[in-house]
Amino acid sequence: MKVIEKLHLIQQEIAEACARSNRNPEDITIVAVTKYVTIDRAVEALEAGIQHFGENRDDGLQKKWEVLKDKPTWHFIGTLQSRKVKNIIDKVTYIHSLDRLSLAKEINKRAEQSVKCFVQVNVSGEESKHGLDPGQVKEFIEQLAQFDKIIVAGLMTMAPLTDDEDMLRTCFRKLKHLQTEIKQLDLPHAPCEDLSMGMSNDFKIAIEEGATFVRIGSALVGE
Ligand SMILES: *Cc1c(COP(=O)(O)O)cnc(C)c1O
Repeated sequence: MKVIEKLHLIQQEIAEACARSNRNPEDITIVAVTKYVTIDRAVEALEAGIQHFGENRDDGLQKKWEVLKDKPTWHFIGTLQSRKVKNIIDKVTYIHSLDRLSLAKEINKRAEQSVKCFVQVNVSGEESKHGLDPGQVKEFIEQLAQFDKIIVAGLMTMAPLTDDEDMLRTCFRKLKHLQTEIKQLDLPHAPCEDLSMGMSNDFKIAIEEGATFVRIGSALVGE
């Protein structure tokens, strides 16, 4: 199936999820996760009108960047080793996986302009998942004030791999509550307006629970 056809289906599903939850589809940004696909397929996605691209490895991002350059807005969505920061920092607008001060320090050192970061939270508490425990998030974000290039755009989570709708909903709802708490702190470096949550199998539920960025790979660009 062509990317444009998949995009139309997803836009339709987003519109329906927004209607169910009284939200405006314009408030949802689709990030096409191109990590599994060829450069040709990424070019097709760009031509279909997708403006936001996500990659989870520095080498994958670099390869696609060589062809697409800054035509899309780039998001780094995966675990980021500090020593890899220098390879991606001049290419990305958003980093979705800020989860430790040492990484914040490196981003701050390498960035030439401010970087919009999502603080990754391990809401479900699964050991295999990266991210801060929900209880650590407030203090972590307060400590980020020392890094003048870091803007906390919002919070990010990966839900557990399950079809259990209640479990997914609970996970997304917890992140939304946490975001509201952080926003209320009114920290200049942490507007925390956004929620990066929802992937191919759970983006509809994530939108119903307040996602503003959905990161969609297989359902959108999968071959
Ligand atoms: C791969 C990946 C996605 C997209 O996954 P799909 O299930 O293919 O939609 C989203 N977020 C992160 C962090 C990923 O690594």
